[in-house]
Amino acid sequence: ESRAALSSWAGPGATADGMPVKLLANVADGESSASSAQAPVEGVGLFRTELCFLNRAEEPTVEEQADIYAAVLTPFAGSRHVVVRTLDAGSDKPVAFATHEGEENPALGVRGLRLSFDNPGLLERQLDAIAIAAERTGTETWVMAPMVATVAEARGFAAAVRGRGLRAGVMVEVPSAALLAPRMLAEVDFLSIGTNDLTQYTMAADRMATDLAYLTDPWQPAVLQLIAITAEAGKQAGKPVGVCGEAAADPLLACALVGMGVTSLSMAAVAVRPVGARLATTTSEQCEEVAEAAMGAEDPAAGRAAVLALLDG
Ligand code: PEP
Ligand code: MG
Repeated sequence: ESRAALSSWAGPGATADGMPVKLLANVADGESSASSAQAPVEGVGLFRTELCFLNRAEEPTVEEQADIYAAVLTPFAGSRHVVVRTLDAGSDKPVAFATHEGEENPALGVRGLRLSFDNPGLLERQLDAIAIAAERTGTETWVMAPMVATVAEARGFAAAVRGRGLRAGVMVEVPSAALLAPRMLAEVDFLSIGTNDLTQYTMAADRMATDLAYLTDPWQPAVLQLIAITAEAGKQAGKPVGVCGEAAADPLLACALVGMGVTSLSMAAVAVRPVGARLATTTSEQCEEVAEAAMGAEDPAAGRAAVLALLDG
């Protein structure tokens, strides 16, 4: 993107023809939330709560958790919202007080929302703390669960969240959740696609394995088709469907995601300007064209080349 366009773009996110696209920040703690609040974002699309607890041996009390969450919510008090993700412990993010030990395949094991099934108090206490922080700060707070695979999981989670007066959503990180998107949306207020895990589980390729980088690429057409199914379900239901994985930070791929019908993109705050500037020079019709091209490509390299040719050719 040209330096002039980059430096002049100041938000809010929209295509060249004025279709709004919410640009949001991914944050890890109060400090990153405060700095992200300075970026031209309309809120936080992913607060990874487990990152606050990676060095904790014991579960923090509800009060202690509420203080940590309030520090993240406060910088966005006023007109901006924060999506809090409940504990995504396990696999690549082990949390001592939550994770199961000695699993053969931790990425396919008891991780994310699954941890709450044999330890319901863990989720209940976290939701209590989130509700306290939301109340204390007055920030609009949405809550979503990681690693949801079934409609029953979405239903149970939504009941627990709504019981505390908050908006409930689930992440789409498992192919089953994408395929069931219309039924998931009947249970929740919003969906958020985690492309890092969705790619890992669609391509059966460990996201940490550098020698599998050609598979762990969100430009893989199969991954894009699952995203498109999810976004289409959101359009039909009239409910927000965002992307909060690394894919959202790629300006070209962001255009394709918007063309599929994704309504928000959440990323590290540093990525917001390049993505916002690219979208601002791309019409919604072009976004739809590049979405088709990327999904129809044979592989990630061909998809990138086709999209670049359509936009800059
Ligand atoms: C993802 O899987 O894309 C995601 C946003 O969650 P995390 O990277 O924290 O697993
Ligand atoms: Mg994930």
